[in-house]
Amino acid sequence: MLAIPSCSQAALRGLGCPQLLRHDAFLGGSWIAGAGQDPVTDPATDEVIAQVARCSTQDALRAIDAAEAAFPAWRDMLARDRGRILRRWAELIRKHAQDLAVILTCEQGKPLAEARDEIHYGLDFIDWFAAEGERAYGETIPAHKPGRQLMVTMQPVGVVAAITPWNFPSAMIARKAAAALAAGCTVIVKPAEETPLSALALAVLAQEAGMPAGVFQVLTGDGAELCGVLTGDTRVRAVSFTGSTRVGAILAADAARTVKKVSLELGGHAPVIVFPDADLDQAVTDCLAAKFATSGQDCLAANRIYLHETIHDAFAQRFTERVAGLRLGHGLTQGTEIGPMTRRSVVETCDAQITDALAKGARILTGGRPPASGNFVTPTVLVDVQDGMRITREETFGPVAALMRFATEAEVTARANASEMGLAAYVFTRDLGRAMRLSAALEYGMVAVNTASFTGPPIPFGGWKGSGLGREGSRHGLSEFMDLKYVCFGGLAA
Ligand code: ADP
Repeated sequence: MLAIPSCSQAALRGLGCPQLLRHDAFLGGSWIAGAGQDPVTDPATDEVIAQVARCSTQDALRAIDAAEAAFPAWRDMLARDRGRILRRWAELIRKHAQDLAVILTCEQGKPLAEARDEIHYGLDFIDWFAAEGERAYGETIPAHKPGRQLMVTMQPVGVVAAITPWNFPSAMIARKAAAALAAGCTVIVKPAEETPLSALALAVLAQEAGMPAGVFQVLTGDGAELCGVLTGDTRVRAVSFTGSTRVGAILAADAARTVKKVSLELGGHAPVIVFPDADLDQAVTDCLAAKFATSGQDCLAANRIYLHETIHDAFAQRFTERVAGLRLGHGLTQGTEIGPMTRRSVVETCDAQITDALAKGARILTGGRPPASGNFVTPTVLVDVQDGMRITREETFGPVAALMRFATEAEVTARANASEMGLAAYVFTRDLGRAMRLSAALEYGMVAVNTASFTGPPIPFGGWKGSGLGREGSRHGLSEFMDLKYVCFGGLAA
């Protein structure tokens, strides 16, 4: 049985800047108590670490009023001046990174070092978009009729709802808000119920950075109720969501009634394909990172690991040794590599997928059932996994690795593509021709060749098929929050 010390309360009491820990929602530039309170728990111990405002439908409507009122002045500001405020925000996040990481670990569970990485990943987007906002270029078009001049401009859509998940409670807000704010939109964040504290801490720093009232707000409380208000209101012009495909489909259907722009970053089910000519040590190391980052609760997680039959056993042995050595514990404990599952349902999914795989002939090389204790899942490696087992059809979202054999490139390409999801795929090979063929043939929004580390502000993050719509990051991310305007000047003939 895993003994988990209860250390979150003490860590939160010891924050360098205690003002970052807020319990009220941040609406219209003020801190609002809400209609009630919801507990926030430390997933490692299940102890309640805070009570946070449960906003009502009325609060959500007030947030939209404030965002709408703040929009014209924010839109009309020079992009450079918006960029200055964004850069100040990023600077404050950098200054308080340690406290923000502690708050994140306490409510989400991930190891502190990963929480720190997440804070920096998020602020990089704010820095990057602070500059990119100045590059929302339009175009001129050669006239197709006499005496005309044709111009296209990019303008911000207006009020944006950013609905964010619990696996990256800080960076997903930063990634969405950075682009929307840089574009000139105002943003209402609805964080996941499990992780509101990171969102509120970002609001403290947005206010300190000089963000005008109503430009960046955080609405805490019930997802279905509050998101229903946001998606149903015609004044909200775009919805940007990261989370499950199930909730994404609900939000897209709701948003369709008022014809909003929708960007969705949904589930993944990433294949990793290792060919016999790959650098095996590198493939093992990258696979470990791709599978066990965020304790497996990551939409980029390596869900199906396809190994060529000639290197299968060697890979499985080296990989299993590394997995067996991963240290479980409280995210605040030095040396922890795998934290708890933020949601109990993830433990149940892992357990059900392992049980199903074993019943159908898979074997466990390390880990297995039952899960360690509480919300923890022992890092597990399964071999002899066959297509058709649950783990090959559903996203796991936990620290369970499924290893499979393949014989030919054509076969593995077809198997990797046989999924409703299409977020990220990984290929390991030193054959350039094969790398090029695979990167073209894989039906995924992102393909990483010989690396597991590929995200960041300049790249268009997003998926194909059931993994979503739209892109975050890069110039494409900015245009998610802008509308094109075509202007035709006539009567110009002398
Ligand atoms: P994940 O599975 O990654 O946690 P979810 O799809 O469960 O993601 O939810 C992420 C976000 O969706 C949360 O902020 C939650 O409040 C919000 N949400 C919006 N509408 C709903 C809904 N109808 N049901 C559940 N969550 C919702």
